[in-house]
Amino acid sequence: MKKGLLIILSGPSGVGKGTVRKHVMKDHSLRLFYSISMTTRTPRPNEKNGKDYYFVDKETFQKNIDEGNFLEWAEFVGNRYGTPKDKVEQWREEGKNVFLEIEVNGATQVLNSIKDEGVVSIFLVPPSLKDLEKRIRSRRSESEEIIQKRLEKGKNELQYASMYKYQVLNDRVTRAANEICSIIRKEITNHLKK
Ligand code: 5GP
Repeated sequence: MKKGLLIILSGPSGVGKGTVRKHVMKDHSLRLFYSISMTTRTPRPNEKNGKDYYFVDKETFQKNIDEGNFLEWAEFVGNRYGTPKDKVEQWREEGKNVFLEIEVNGATQVLNSIKDEGVVSIFLVPPSLKDLEKRIRSRRSESEEIIQKRLEKGKNELQYASMYKYQVLNDRVTRAANEICSIIRKEITNHLKK
């Protein structure tokens, strides 16, 4: 059986990766399997453990680093986020297409370590910096200090866009999600032909 694709959606914090990802995942014809990340961040009011993230304490996260359980992990504005390795490898071996939604540092680690032709990297671009700030502020769940840090980080992260095979503008969520679905569909077709 042909190994599944590894699709990486990245981009600056606040660009709307999570919302776009949820739209993309609704297209069941793509047979995407979302890799749920582990994080030390506290859950936002609407978030559920085991669905949005595996929320763990710092010790548990560190233990997973020490045991080599992450495909990649990164520190982001005071918290740690990582992709558990086991499911990603198992699913790909089973021919399933795995979808990662991760920040730029972690995505760089994956792009540097996995060189096979099944990796599809997509960078989501905000229409403007003003728009990015508006989105980060609209979450209202974070202090001004954290908002400023996320903004600063977001501006820096934008310069990595060219490392990705595809750059998609998040001007409207449904349009961006549809473009990503088309990219994935094309990549699946090409992958199966090889
Ligand atoms: P948030 O706190 O807004 O949920 O996530 C902060 C950032 O971490 C976002 O850019 C999100 O995409 C990213 N992120 C989520 N999961 C992972 C992961 O497993 N690894 C890495 N490197 N980043 C992640």
